[in-house]
Order: sequence, then C-alpha cells, then structure tokens
Amino acid sequence: MKFTDEFRNRTIAKGILAQIARYSQQIGKPIQLMEVCGTHTVTIFKFGIRDLLPKNIKLLSGPGCPVCVTTQQDIDTAISLTELESIIFTTFGDMLRVPGTNSSLQEQKANGKDVRVVYSCLDALEIAKNNPEKKVIFFAVGFETTSPTVAATLQLAAQSKINNFFIYPAHKLIPPAMRALLESGEVNINGFICPGHVSAVIGAKPYQFIPEQYRVGCVIAGFEPLDILQAIVMLLHQIVDQNPCVEIQYQRVVKPEGNPKARQMLYEVFEPADTTWRGLGTIPNSGLNLTKPYLRFNILETVPNIRLSSAVHRSSPCRCGEVLRGIITPPECALFRKKCTPDNPIGPCMVSSEGTCAAYYKYKRN
Ligand code: SF4
Repeated sequence: MKFTDEFRNRTIAKGILAQIARYSQQIGKPIQLMEVCGTHTVTIFKFGIRDLLPKNIKLLSGPGCPVCVTTQQDIDTAISLTELESIIFTTFGDMLRVPGTNSSLQEQKANGKDVRVVYSCLDALEIAKNNPEKKVIFFAVGFETTSPTVAATLQLAAQSKINNFFIYPAHKLIPPAMRALLESGEVNINGFICPGHVSAVIGAKPYQFIPEQYRVGCVIAGFEPLDILQAIVMLLHQIVDQNPCVEIQYQRVVKPEGNPKARQMLYEVFEPADTTWRGLGTIPNSGLNLTKPYLRFNILETVPNIRLSSAVHRSSPCRCGEVLRGIITPPECALFRKKCTPDNPIGPCMVSSEGTCAAYYKYKRN
C-alpha cells in the first residue's frame, strides 16, 4: 500500500537495527527511551519493536493516551452530569468503558441516560442544533491534537449563537507532563520519542527546555515502524555525540514552527491552567481553561456544584498511575490478564486502544 509499505520495509528496518546495535555497543550502558504517545505505543507493540532492540536499549511507555490520563474525578463528574435533567452527554467511544468509582458512562447509557458516542466535537454541536430543548455536553479530553478542533467548534457555536452547547473541559498539554516526569526523578529517561500529531500543532520549540535544562534528547517521530526505529537511531546518535537536542524525524508532517493558525485558534478560546493527571497529580499549566469570552461554554459554570458531588473515591488495586509514569510494565500489575482484560477492564490503560495495558495484552505474550 502506497505511503505505508515504504515505512514497513524489512530490508531498511534491518539496516536501521544494525545501526542501533552499533550505537548500543558504543554506549555500553543501559538506556531508557520513553514514547509519550499512545499511537507510538501501539506501533511499538504491534511490530514487536521492543523485542528487536539490543538488551541495553529499553523503551518505556509514558502518559500518551488521553483516555488513560483523565482522572477518576473527571470520570465521576462526567457520570454525575449524565444524571441531570434534559441532558445529552457526548463523548469519544473509548471514554465510555472507563470505570468510574461507582459506574461508567456505558452503564449510565445502559440505565437509560442519554449518552452518545461522537467522532468529533462538531458532531456534538450538530446534536445540540437538532435538540434545542436539551443541554448537550461534549466531554473534551485529549491533547494539543484535538483541542484546536474543540476551539474551532466553540467559535462556530458562538458565531451561530447556539446556547445549549457545552463542554466538560479536561484537555491536557504534553510538554508540562514531560517536565513533571523528569522532575520526579522516579524513572531514568535518556531520551523522548515525542508525539508526531501533537507536534504538528505545537512544533519543536516547546520541547526545547528538555535538552537545555535536563540534558535529555527529543525526537519527534511518525507512527510507522521505520519512523520509530529511525527516531531511536537519532536519539542514540545524540547520546553518542553527547549533544541532546530536539530533532524532527517526522518531517513529512511536522514543521519546526508547528501550525501557528491552529495555535492561534486554540489560544483565543483556551488558556493554560493547572490540571490533574491520573498517575502524575497536579501539574502546573498542563491543562486548558476556557478564556473569558468562552467561559459560558463550560458546563461547570452552569452547574458549579456537580464536581463537589462527585463520589468519594475508594482505593483501587489498579496500577495505571505507575504504568503511565513508566515505573512498571502491565504484567507487574497483579490484575493484568487475570481480573483485568479488555473485556473486563479495571483501569483506563486496559480500556483505551492506545492504553499500554491494552497494547501489552493484545500484542505481547510474555
Ligand atoms: Fe490497571 Fe488493569 Fe493495567 Fe492493572 S492491568 S494497571 S488494573 S488497567
């Protein structure tokens, strides 16, 4: 298939792997590279990339799955919102099965609440247009890839004077989470494979602090197996040269300056704010709040007490938080493949198709 086969070519892969082997020998010591994107995680597991690498080169999965990093409190609040009168709650499909404390959006739907799966925020706006007597809420999760589309939809809603459309904002920004991981010192990270989609919007500059302040290299990578292998070579090259920097492997999509238009739209509607991540806690300026002109679209402005009514959290044996920080691999969780499976997920990392536990379950046998 054109545009795919050339990035899955075995002969080229063997050549890159030979280069990786040479660098790994030169480096000699253990190296840990973290991918911060759920789509990378899936490619890495699907094509067995971890198993192809020399023993001293280890890949870690980070907090790159938007469903996985959404907190239990946000899930519980979303569930509480479905209980309100005259509500249509819309969400991406993966969020449906994430267990809350006492229920899930799927259970709410099964119990007769109007919960609908949409493919975009624009679909949710369409539902609002067609149901003027209802309040339509979109569960706005995701990273810099999806937030500009939500911003564009809210601008459209404002221009079209659609007053029954709201979002529950739970967006996250990737670079502050990378800083939090490095600051925590819990796990040794020698290089980051940075997310291609996110970087198509934000460009290369927001990662610059990582080599400058932490002496850790970053390579923005595409999503095919050869993209990932090439990104690994580039990171190892930086380590050999002792020259950590930000490089773009995914040049066919990502420009150094990113997409200024998308960012302008994003920051007309949203502004950075502190937010809480599952597993990482509260990270300064790692989320997005609506700016003043768009504040009315936040459903919490209409029902401000709903968050407080969120259920009391009980402790869970799920170790998604540690999986998201790269501290453990899924088999180290006692529930993995036993109580927790894709058919019966205990935590979001097993629900989402981009979750590390789900990828491990599907593609890795040991
Ligand atoms: Fe949570 Fe299941 Fe992953 Fe364990 S295997 S960390 S319970 S999602």
